[in-house]
Amino acid sequence: MNKQNNPVSAISCDTSPDVQINLNIRGLKPSATVAINEKSNELIKTGKKIYKLGLGQSPFPVPQPVIQALQVNAFQKDYLPVKGLWELRETIAEHHQRSFGIECSAEDVLIGPGSKELMFLIQLVYYGDLVIPTPSWVSYVPQAKIIGRQIRLLHTKAENNWRLTAEQLDQYCSEDPQRPRLLILNYPSNPTGKTYPPEELADLAEVARKYRILLLSDEIYGKIHHKGLHQSIVPMYPEGTVFSGGLSKWCGAGGWRLGLFVFPGCLRWLQEAMAVAASETFTSTSSPIQFAAIKAFEENPDIDLYLTNVRKILNVLGSKLAGILNKSGIKTLAPDGGFYLFPDFSPFRDKLKSKGIHNSSELCEKVLEEAGVAILPGSEFGQPEDALTVRLAYVNFDGDKALQAVDGGEEPDDAFLKQYCGDTLNAVAIIADWIQA
Ligand code: GLU
Repeated sequence: MNKQNNPVSAISCDTSPDVQINLNIRGLKPSATVAINEKSNELIKTGKKIYKLGLGQSPFPVPQPVIQALQVNAFQKDYLPVKGLWELRETIAEHHQRSFGIECSAEDVLIGPGSKELMFLIQLVYYGDLVIPTPSWVSYVPQAKIIGRQIRLLHTKAENNWRLTAEQLDQYCSEDPQRPRLLILNYPSNPTGKTYPPEELADLAEVARKYRILLLSDEIYGKIHHKGLHQSIVPMYPEGTVFSGGLSKWCGAGGWRLGLFVFPGCLRWLQEAMAVAASETFTSTSSPIQFAAIKAFEENPDIDLYLTNVRKILNVLGSKLAGILNKSGIKTLAPDGGFYLFPDFSPFRDKLKSKGIHNSSELCEKVLEEAGVAILPGSEFGQPEDALTVRLAYVNFDGDKALQAVDGGEEPDDAFLKQYCGDTLNAVAIIADWIQA
Protein backbone atom coordinates (compact mmCIF):
# COMPACT_ATOMS: atom_id res chain seq x y z
CA MET A 1 0.00 0.00 0.00
CA ASN A 2 1.46 3.38 -0.84
CA LYS A 3 1.82 6.17 1.68
CA GLN A 4 -1.24 8.10 0.52
CA ASN A 5 -3.46 5.14 1.13
CA ASN A 6 -2.38 4.63 4.72
CA PRO A 7 -5.22 5.35 7.08
CA VAL A 8 -4.33 8.21 9.43
CA SER A 9 -4.91 6.00 12.45
CA ALA A 10 -2.03 3.67 11.55
CA ILE A 11 1.21 4.39 13.38
CA SER A 12 4.30 4.73 11.21
CA CYS A 13 7.72 6.35 11.46
CA ASP A 14 6.83 9.13 9.06
CA THR A 15 3.37 9.94 10.39
CA SER A 16 3.16 13.63 11.07
CA PRO A 17 3.10 14.07 14.85
CA ASP A 18 0.47 16.75 14.32
CA VAL A 19 -2.01 14.09 13.36
CA GLN A 20 -1.67 11.58 16.16
CA ILE A 21 -0.62 13.47 19.27
CA ASN A 22 -3.37 14.40 21.73
CA LEU A 23 -4.46 17.97 21.04
CA ASN A 24 -3.69 19.09 24.61
CA ILE A 25 -0.02 18.23 24.34
CA ARG A 26 0.56 19.30 20.75
CA GLY A 27 3.07 22.14 20.56
CA LEU A 28 4.26 21.80 24.16
CA LYS A 29 8.03 21.55 24.64
CA PRO A 30 9.84 19.55 27.33
CA SER A 31 9.90 21.35 30.69
CA ALA A 32 12.36 24.27 30.58
CA THR A 33 14.06 23.28 33.85
CA VAL A 34 14.73 19.77 32.64
CA ALA A 35 15.72 20.93 29.13
CA ILE A 36 18.28 23.53 30.31
CA ASN A 37 19.99 20.91 32.45
CA GLU A 38 20.30 18.53 29.52
CA LYS A 39 21.46 21.30 27.17
CA SER A 40 24.10 22.48 29.69
CA ASN A 41 25.40 18.92 30.11
CA GLU A 42 25.64 18.51 26.31
CA LEU A 43 27.66 21.73 26.03
CA ILE A 44 29.94 20.65 28.88
CA LYS A 45 30.54 17.34 27.06
CA THR A 46 31.85 19.30 24.05
CA GLY A 47 34.49 20.85 26.33
CA LYS A 48 32.83 24.24 26.96
CA LYS A 49 32.90 25.86 30.39
CA ILE A 50 29.26 26.28 31.37
CA TYR A 51 28.01 27.70 34.65
CA LYS A 52 24.87 25.74 35.50
CA LEU A 53 22.39 28.16 37.04
CA GLY A 54 19.47 26.64 35.12
CA LEU A 55 18.01 23.63 36.92
CA GLY A 56 16.92 24.21 40.52
CA GLN A 57 18.71 21.32 42.14
CA SER A 58 20.04 21.49 45.70
CA PRO A 59 23.86 21.61 45.74
CA PHE A 60 23.93 19.94 49.16
CA PRO A 61 24.33 16.20 49.80
CA VAL A 62 21.61 14.04 51.30
CA PRO A 63 22.30 14.00 55.08
CA GLN A 64 24.40 11.00 56.15
CA PRO A 65 21.79 9.32 58.41
CA VAL A 66 19.34 9.33 55.49
CA ILE A 67 21.91 7.83 53.10
CA GLN A 68 22.65 5.11 55.64
CA ALA A 69 18.95 4.37 55.97
CA LEU A 70 18.73 3.94 52.20
CA GLN A 71 21.70 1.57 52.21
CA VAL A 72 20.13 -0.54 54.93
CA ASN A 73 16.83 -0.65 53.05
CA ALA A 74 18.13 -1.47 49.59
CA PHE A 75 16.63 -4.96 49.95
CA GLN A 76 13.05 -3.63 50.27
CA LYS A 77 11.48 -4.89 47.10
CA ASP A 78 7.75 -5.16 47.61
CA TYR A 79 5.17 -2.77 46.29
CA LEU A 80 3.97 -0.54 49.10
CA PRO A 81 0.40 0.72 49.67
CA VAL A 82 -0.68 3.28 47.10
CA LYS A 83 -0.95 6.10 49.66
CA GLY A 84 2.47 5.28 51.06
CA LEU A 85 4.23 3.36 53.78
CA TRP A 86 2.23 3.73 57.01
CA GLU A 87 5.28 4.39 59.25
CA LEU A 88 6.44 7.10 56.85
CA ARG A 89 2.99 8.70 56.78
CA GLU A 90 3.00 8.72 60.58
CA THR A 91 6.46 10.28 60.74
CA ILE A 92 5.51 12.89 58.15
CA ALA A 93 2.35 13.83 60.05
CA GLU A 94 4.33 14.32 63.28
CA HIS A 95 7.03 16.23 61.43
CA HIS A 96 4.64 18.72 59.85
CA GLN A 97 2.77 19.21 63.08
CA ARG A 98 6.07 19.91 64.84
CA SER A 99 7.61 22.13 62.12
CA PHE A 100 4.63 24.07 60.75
CA GLY A 101 1.79 23.58 63.25
CA ILE A 102 -0.26 21.54 60.78
CA GLU A 103 -2.89 19.51 62.67
CA CYS A 104 -2.83 16.15 60.91
CA SER A 105 -2.44 12.40 61.31
CA ALA A 106 -0.97 9.62 59.18
CA GLU A 107 -4.37 9.15 57.45
CA ASP A 108 -4.06 12.64 55.95
CA VAL A 109 -0.75 12.00 54.19
CA LEU A 110 -0.32 10.89 50.58
CA ILE A 111 3.12 9.93 49.27
CA GLY A 112 4.08 10.19 45.61
CA PRO A 113 7.10 9.90 43.32
CA GLY A 114 7.84 13.64 43.58
CA SER A 115 5.33 16.38 44.40
CA LYS A 116 5.28 17.20 40.66
CA GLU A 117 3.38 13.98 39.97
CA LEU A 118 0.95 14.65 42.83
CA MET A 119 0.32 18.15 41.43
CA PHE A 120 -0.57 16.61 38.10
CA LEU A 121 -2.96 14.18 39.77
CA ILE A 122 -4.73 16.84 41.85
CA GLN A 123 -5.36 18.84 38.69
CA LEU A 124 -6.57 15.71 36.95
CA VAL A 125 -9.07 14.71 39.63
CA TYR A 126 -10.33 18.12 40.78
CA TYR A 127 -12.71 19.69 38.33
CA GLY A 128 -11.91 23.39 38.66
CA ASP A 129 -9.98 26.19 36.99
CA LEU A 130 -6.29 26.52 37.75
CA VAL A 131 -5.42 29.89 39.26
CA ILE A 132 -1.75 30.80 39.30
CA PRO A 133 -0.07 33.91 40.64
CA THR A 134 2.86 34.63 38.33
CA PRO A 135 5.82 34.48 38.12
CA SER A 136 5.37 30.81 38.94
CA TRP A 137 7.18 27.51 38.55
CA VAL A 138 7.40 26.24 34.97
CA SER A 139 5.23 23.13 35.23
CA TYR A 140 1.90 24.16 36.82
CA VAL A 141 0.52 25.67 33.63
CA PRO A 142 1.66 22.95 31.19
CA GLN A 143 0.15 20.34 33.52
CA ALA A 144 -3.19 22.16 33.37
CA LYS A 145 -2.90 22.39 29.58
CA ILE A 146 -2.22 18.68 29.25
CA ILE A 147 -5.29 17.91 31.35
CA GLY A 148 -7.37 20.52 29.54
CA ARG A 149 -8.18 22.82 32.46
CA GLN A 150 -8.97 26.51 32.18
CA ILE A 151 -6.04 28.59 33.38
CA ARG A 152 -6.13 32.03 34.92
CA LEU A 153 -2.86 33.86 35.57
CA LEU A 154 -2.80 36.59 38.22
CA HIS A 155 0.27 38.73 37.53
CA THR A 156 2.21 40.07 40.49
CA LYS A 157 4.73 42.91 40.59
CA ALA A 158 8.33 43.30 41.74
CA GLU A 159 7.28 46.45 43.69
CA ASN A 160 5.05 44.12 45.67
CA ASN A 161 7.83 41.56 46.24
CA TRP A 162 6.15 39.41 43.57
CA ARG A 163 3.31 38.60 45.98
CA LEU A 164 -0.37 38.06 45.21
CA THR A 165 -2.53 40.44 47.23
CA ALA A 166 -5.80 39.49 48.90
CA GLU A 167 -7.53 42.35 47.02
CA GLN A 168 -6.32 41.01 43.67
CA LEU A 169 -7.58 37.52 44.49
CA ASP A 170 -10.90 38.86 45.78
CA GLN A 171 -11.44 40.99 42.72
CA TYR A 172 -10.80 38.09 40.39
CA CYS A 173 -13.03 35.64 42.32
CA SER A 174 -15.87 38.15 42.58
CA GLU A 175 -16.24 38.03 38.75
CA ASP A 176 -17.77 34.57 39.18
CA PRO A 177 -18.05 33.74 42.89
CA GLN A 178 -19.40 30.18 42.55
CA ARG A 179 -16.78 28.90 40.14
CA PRO A 180 -14.68 25.92 41.39
CA ARG A 181 -11.04 26.92 41.51
CA LEU A 182 -7.68 25.44 42.42
CA LEU A 183 -5.22 28.12 43.51
CA ILE A 184 -1.55 27.14 43.78
CA LEU A 185 0.42 29.32 46.14
CA ASN A 186 4.17 28.68 46.29
CA TYR A 187 6.39 30.27 48.95
CA PRO A 188 9.27 30.75 49.41
CA SER A 189 8.83 31.15 45.70
CA ASN A 190 10.34 29.44 42.76
CA PRO A 191 11.35 31.57 40.79
CA THR A 192 11.57 34.75 42.92
CA GLY A 193 12.94 33.55 46.30
CA LYS A 194 10.41 35.80 48.03
CA THR A 195 7.89 34.68 50.64
CA TYR A 196 4.72 35.97 52.37
CA PRO A 197 4.56 37.52 55.83
CA PRO A 198 1.96 35.83 58.10
CA GLU A 199 -0.51 38.73 57.94
CA GLU A 200 -0.66 38.55 54.13
CA LEU A 201 -1.16 34.78 54.30
CA ALA A 202 -4.03 35.37 56.74
CA ASP A 203 -5.65 37.86 54.32
CA LEU A 204 -5.31 35.42 51.43
CA ALA A 205 -6.76 32.64 53.60
CA GLU A 206 -9.80 34.79 54.31
CA VAL A 207 -10.48 35.34 50.61
CA ALA A 208 -9.93 31.64 49.89
CA ARG A 209 -12.52 30.79 52.57
CA LYS A 210 -14.98 33.36 51.25
CA TYR A 211 -14.96 31.80 47.75
CA ARG A 212 -14.35 28.21 48.93
CA ILE A 213 -11.21 27.95 46.81
CA LEU A 214 -9.27 24.71 46.90
CA LEU A 215 -5.81 25.91 47.92
CA LEU A 216 -2.70 23.91 47.09
CA SER A 217 0.07 25.33 49.23
CA ASP A 218 3.36 24.41 47.60
CA GLU A 219 5.80 24.78 50.49
CA ILE A 220 8.59 22.63 49.09
CA TYR A 221 11.12 25.40 49.92
CA GLY A 222 9.63 26.08 53.39
CA LYS A 223 12.36 24.31 55.30
CA ILE A 224 15.00 26.35 53.52
CA HIS A 225 13.56 29.71 54.49
CA HIS A 226 16.91 31.40 55.06
CA LYS A 227 16.11 32.42 58.61
CA GLY A 228 14.21 29.24 59.49
CA LEU A 229 11.04 31.32 59.89
CA HIS A 230 8.72 29.67 57.40
CA GLN A 231 5.05 30.09 58.21
CA SER A 232 2.48 27.78 56.61
CA ILE A 233 -0.95 28.99 55.48
CA VAL A 234 -2.46 25.60 56.39
CA PRO A 235 -3.40 26.52 60.00
CA MET A 236 -5.10 29.68 58.66
CA TYR A 237 -7.37 27.86 56.19
CA PRO A 238 -7.18 24.24 57.33
CA GLU A 239 -10.47 23.07 55.82
CA GLY A 240 -9.55 24.04 52.25
CA THR A 241 -5.78 23.69 52.01
CA VAL A 242 -3.69 20.81 50.74
CA PHE A 243 -0.04 21.07 51.78
CA SER A 244 2.63 20.05 49.27
CA GLY A 245 6.21 19.21 50.17
CA GLY A 246 8.89 16.58 49.77
CA LEU A 247 12.53 15.67 50.11
CA SER A 248 13.89 17.24 46.92
CA LYS A 249 14.90 20.70 48.04
CA TRP A 250 15.71 20.75 51.77
CA CYS A 251 17.20 17.27 51.84
CA GLY A 252 19.24 17.49 48.63
CA ALA A 253 17.33 14.54 47.20
CA GLY A 254 15.67 15.74 43.97
CA GLY A 255 16.60 12.54 42.16
CA TRP A 256 15.09 10.36 44.88
CA ARG A 257 11.62 11.51 43.80
CA LEU A 258 9.78 11.59 47.11
CA GLY A 259 6.90 14.02 47.35
CA LEU A 260 4.00 14.34 49.76
CA PHE A 261 0.60 15.97 50.19
CA VAL A 262 -1.16 16.52 53.53
CA PHE A 263 -4.98 16.80 53.34
CA PRO A 264 -7.47 18.12 55.85
CA GLY A 265 -10.00 15.49 56.98
CA CYS A 266 -12.82 17.19 55.08
CA LEU A 267 -10.97 16.76 51.76
CA ARG A 268 -10.68 13.00 52.23
CA TRP A 269 -12.77 12.51 49.05
CA LEU A 270 -10.08 14.35 47.08
CA GLN A 271 -7.30 12.30 48.63
CA GLU A 272 -9.21 9.08 47.82
CA ALA A 273 -9.77 10.18 44.21
CA MET A 274 -6.06 10.91 43.87
CA ALA A 275 -5.24 7.50 45.32
CA VAL A 276 -7.46 5.89 42.66
CA ALA A 277 -5.60 7.77 39.92
CA ALA A 278 -2.26 6.90 41.57
CA SER A 279 -3.16 3.22 41.74
CA GLU A 280 -3.83 3.24 37.99
CA THR A 281 -0.64 5.11 37.12
CA PHE A 282 2.43 4.81 39.39
CA THR A 283 1.04 2.11 41.79
CA SER A 284 3.27 3.16 44.68
CA THR A 285 6.46 5.11 45.36
CA SER A 286 9.84 3.35 45.48
CA SER A 287 10.07 1.16 48.62
CA PRO A 288 13.72 1.75 49.64
CA ILE A 289 13.24 5.51 49.25
CA GLN A 290 10.16 5.49 51.46
CA PHE A 291 11.90 3.51 54.20
CA ALA A 292 14.89 5.88 54.07
CA ALA A 293 12.63 8.94 54.11
CA ILE A 294 11.43 7.99 57.61
CA LYS A 295 14.92 8.93 58.81
CA ALA A 296 14.72 12.32 57.09
CA PHE A 297 11.47 13.30 58.82
CA GLU A 298 12.25 11.96 62.30
CA GLU A 299 13.47 14.32 65.01
CA ASN A 300 17.24 14.34 64.73
CA PRO A 301 19.71 16.99 65.95
CA ASP A 302 22.18 16.08 63.17
CA ILE A 303 19.58 16.88 60.53
CA ASP A 304 18.60 20.08 62.33
CA LEU A 305 22.24 21.15 62.26
CA TYR A 306 22.51 20.24 58.58
CA LEU A 307 19.51 22.47 57.86
CA THR A 308 20.82 25.35 59.96
CA ASN A 309 24.08 25.28 58.02
CA VAL A 310 22.39 24.93 54.63
CA ARG A 311 20.26 28.01 55.42
CA LYS A 312 23.29 30.00 56.58
CA ILE A 313 25.12 29.39 53.30
CA LEU A 314 22.10 30.07 51.09
CA ASN A 315 21.28 33.24 53.01
CA VAL A 316 24.73 34.78 52.66
CA LEU A 317 25.18 33.66 49.06
CA GLY A 318 21.70 34.80 47.95
CA SER A 319 22.08 38.32 49.30
CA LYS A 320 25.65 38.61 48.02
CA LEU A 321 24.56 37.70 44.49
CA ALA A 322 21.57 40.05 44.59
CA GLY A 323 24.00 42.79 45.68
CA ILE A 324 26.35 42.15 42.74
CA LEU A 325 23.47 42.21 40.26
CA ASN A 326 21.93 45.38 41.70
CA LYS A 327 25.31 47.10 41.64
CA SER A 328 25.57 46.44 37.93
CA GLY A 329 22.08 47.89 37.39
CA ILE A 330 20.16 44.60 37.07
CA LYS A 331 17.21 44.94 39.46
CA THR A 332 17.13 41.96 41.83
CA LEU A 333 15.26 41.41 45.09
CA ALA A 334 17.26 39.70 47.84
CA PRO A 335 15.72 36.27 48.51
CA ASP A 336 13.95 35.08 51.69
CA GLY A 337 14.32 31.37 51.03
CA GLY A 338 15.16 28.65 48.51
CA PHE A 339 17.94 29.11 45.97
CA TYR A 340 16.55 31.35 43.25
CA LEU A 341 16.86 34.98 42.14
CA PHE A 342 14.63 36.69 39.62
CA PRO A 343 16.73 39.51 38.11
CA ASP A 344 15.12 42.12 35.88
CA PHE A 345 17.23 43.46 32.99
CA SER A 346 14.68 46.06 31.88
CA PRO A 347 16.96 49.05 32.74
CA PHE A 348 19.09 47.76 29.82
CA ARG A 349 16.22 47.38 27.35
CA ASP A 350 17.63 49.83 24.77
CA LYS A 351 21.14 48.49 25.00
CA LEU A 352 19.87 44.91 24.63
CA LYS A 353 17.70 45.92 21.67
CA SER A 354 20.81 47.16 19.89
CA LYS A 355 22.27 43.65 20.35
CA GLY A 356 19.13 42.12 18.80
CA ILE A 357 17.69 41.04 22.18
CA HIS A 358 13.98 41.84 22.60
CA ASN A 359 12.73 39.31 25.15
CA SER A 360 13.85 37.02 27.96
CA SER A 361 14.35 33.96 25.72
CA GLU A 362 16.71 35.84 23.42
CA LEU A 363 18.46 37.24 26.49
CA CYS A 364 19.07 33.79 27.98
CA GLU A 365 20.25 32.39 24.65
CA LYS A 366 22.82 35.18 24.31
CA VAL A 367 23.97 34.88 27.95
CA LEU A 368 24.56 31.17 27.40
CA GLU A 369 26.27 31.66 24.04
CA GLU A 370 28.45 34.66 24.92
CA ALA A 371 28.97 34.30 28.68
CA GLY A 372 28.58 30.54 29.16
CA VAL A 373 25.99 30.95 31.93
CA ALA A 374 22.81 28.85 31.81
CA ILE A 375 19.75 30.65 33.20
CA LEU A 376 16.05 30.50 32.32
CA PRO A 377 13.79 33.11 30.71
CA GLY A 378 11.03 34.74 32.76
CA SER A 379 8.59 33.87 29.96
CA GLU A 380 8.84 30.22 31.08
CA PHE A 381 7.56 31.38 34.49
CA GLY A 382 4.48 33.13 33.17
CA GLN A 383 6.04 36.57 32.61
CA PRO A 384 4.86 38.54 29.56
CA GLU A 385 6.77 37.70 26.38
CA ASP A 386 8.57 41.06 26.19
CA ALA A 387 9.59 41.24 29.87
CA LEU A 388 13.33 41.00 30.52
CA THR A 389 13.28 38.94 33.71
CA VAL A 390 15.22 35.69 34.15
CA ARG A 391 15.48 32.98 36.78
CA LEU A 392 18.87 32.21 38.21
CA ALA A 393 19.38 29.14 40.43
CA TYR A 394 22.43 29.77 42.64
CA VAL A 395 23.37 26.15 42.99
CA ASN A 396 26.55 25.78 40.96
CA PHE A 397 28.89 24.84 43.80
CA ASP A 398 29.98 21.84 45.83
CA GLY A 399 27.55 21.93 48.74
CA ASP A 400 29.31 19.04 50.47
CA LYS A 401 32.58 20.99 50.77
CA ALA A 402 30.79 24.17 51.79
CA LEU A 403 28.86 22.30 54.52
CA GLN A 404 31.99 20.64 55.85
CA ALA A 405 33.65 24.06 56.12
CA VAL A 406 30.71 25.48 58.11
CA ASP A 407 30.72 22.34 60.26
CA GLY A 408 34.41 22.94 60.89
CA GLY A 409 33.59 26.39 62.29
CA GLU A 410 34.14 28.61 59.23
CA GLU A 411 31.76 31.59 58.94
CA PRO A 412 30.14 32.05 55.52
CA ASP A 413 31.62 35.48 54.77
CA ASP A 414 33.00 36.88 51.52
CA ALA A 415 36.22 34.86 51.73
CA PHE A 416 34.15 31.71 52.37
CA LEU A 417 31.94 32.38 49.35
CA LYS A 418 34.99 32.92 47.16
CA GLN A 419 36.51 29.65 48.28
CA TYR A 420 33.45 27.39 48.35
CA CYS A 421 30.90 29.00 46.02
CA GLY A 422 33.42 30.43 43.54
CA ASP A 423 31.77 29.23 40.35
CA THR A 424 28.40 30.68 41.33
CA LEU A 425 29.99 34.02 42.27
CA ASN A 426 32.00 34.02 39.02
CA ALA A 427 28.92 33.24 36.95
CA VAL A 428 27.04 36.19 38.38
CA ALA A 429 30.07 38.50 38.05
CA ILE A 430 30.34 37.38 34.40
CA ILE A 431 26.68 38.32 33.80
CA ALA A 432 27.28 41.71 35.47
CA ASP A 433 30.33 42.33 33.23
CA TRP A 434 28.50 41.10 30.14
CA ILE A 435 25.69 43.60 30.59
CA GLN A 436 28.15 46.45 31.17
CA ALA A 437 30.35 45.60 28.14
N1 GLU B 1 11.93 22.44 40.60
C1 GLU B 1 13.20 22.55 39.98
C2 GLU B 1 13.27 23.80 39.12
O1 GLU B 1 12.36 24.59 39.07
C3 GLU B 1 13.63 21.36 39.16
C4 GLU B 1 12.73 20.22 38.98
C5 GLU B 1 11.59 20.43 38.03
O2 GLU B 1 11.33 21.53 37.54
O3 GLU B 1 10.97 19.43 37.78
O4 GLU B 1 14.28 24.00 38.51
